Amino acid sequence: MSKERMKPCPFCGSKGKDLRVDPSGVLRFGGKVDPLGWSVCCKKCLCCGPYHDDKTEAVKSWNTATRDQ
Ligand SMILES: [Zn+2]
Repeated sequence: MSKERMKPCPFCGSKGKDLRVDPSGVLRFGGKVDPLGWSVCCKKCLCCGPYHDDKTEAVKSWNTATRDQ
């Protein structure tokens, strides 16, 4: 089982368990949720990375976005 490594949050520097890959969606009437995709979210400053259909891609985007910052 391989897991993508997440880089520290570019805003507050959080890492490890403060960063989570969460599914996000739009809540519709009647409690139905339309999925948007996955994104890495920082639990400390509540920022989120780009959304992707794929969990691994979401982590990759996060790492790309946080590079050189
Ligand atoms: Zn943060």
